[in-house]
Amino acid sequence: MSLSEFQLIERFFAGLGAARADVRLGHGDDAALVDCGGATLALAVDTLIEGVHFPADAPAASIGHKLLAVNLSDMAAMGAEPAWALLALTLPAVDETRLAAIREGLDALASRHGLALIGGDTTRGESLVASLFVAGHAGEDALRRDGARPGDWVWVSGAPGEAAAGLALWQASVRDGPGVAQLLRRLHWPEPRVALGRGLRGVASAAVDVSDGVVADAGHLAHRSGVALTIRAADLPLSPALTACAGERAMEYALAGGDDYELLFTAPEAASEAVRRAADAAGVTVHPVGGVAAGRAEVTVIDADGAPMKVARGGYRHFDGGGGGR
Ligand SMILES: [Mg+2]
Repeated sequence: MSLSEFQLIERFFAGLGAARADVRLGHGDDAALVDCGGATLALAVDTLIEGVHFPADAPAASIGHKLLAVNLSDMAAMGAEPAWALLALTLPAVDETRLAAIREGLDALASRHGLALIGGDTTRGESLVASLFVAGHAGEDALRRDGARPGDWVWVSGAPGEAAAGLALWQASVRDGPGVAQLLRRLHWPEPRVALGRGLRGVASAAVDVSDGVVADAGHLAHRSGVALTIRAADLPLSPALTACAGERAMEYALAGGDDYELLFTAPEAASEAVRRAADAAGVTVHPVGGVAAGRAEVTVIDADGAPMKVARGGYRHFDGGGGGR
């Protein structure tokens, strides 16, 4: 029997090494939290593999951008402010033009977020594999996946599903048409919601970034918080670009498509105005799309009539048998 990514981590890597008093939060969230000289740091690492996490023919600059964006998205999910990064790069060959473009994409996003790349490692290998370790400042009130409580509302930022629809277009060699440019931009140039995450500290009760898909990532949050989540499909924002390109499949993409790097979060109903203020300040749209209740830790998607919908088990899976987890 093969193991899911989570089973694999649980069996082989959980509780590895010494138990340290300065570890505030270990594996199982979007980032780890450690106490360091009176401050709380958020630490995360993520890997992009050519042909798995980005198409081999993706614009080179977008590879550098996306590598950092997926890591910054984990910082965003913790409400952390990214500060430092280390890069481990495996290359099949030294292609200076491609490397310069990757650097350019990385540098532009890093500069925008005040992040310094301060070291790393370069090796030769079969295909392009890039790992980025990122560290940032979180606070006492860092966001985590385990704080959702019955009665909270479930919110999502942006318009999920666009990146997955963009991937389908890219793979079908569709480059032009209504809405196409927007979906491809969302695929190749995701915008991590760092400012929103920072603004939600002290407002949201729990958060996760949407990398595997809304339903899959809501499931991660439900599991960690030990609560039941309901997602009202009719309240999920479907962008005109998504509807134009995906037609009847737009809802499927919005529920189960991955790679959006939006935030899915919960907050008490009384905090709704504060949520909207944080979103306005960050220049990001947010929508209430569901609720939290006591009960079995799982996600139920309901239609406009309140009837449960069957949703194909969402979420990108790195290994057979279970959920993903970026
Ligand atoms: Mg994540």
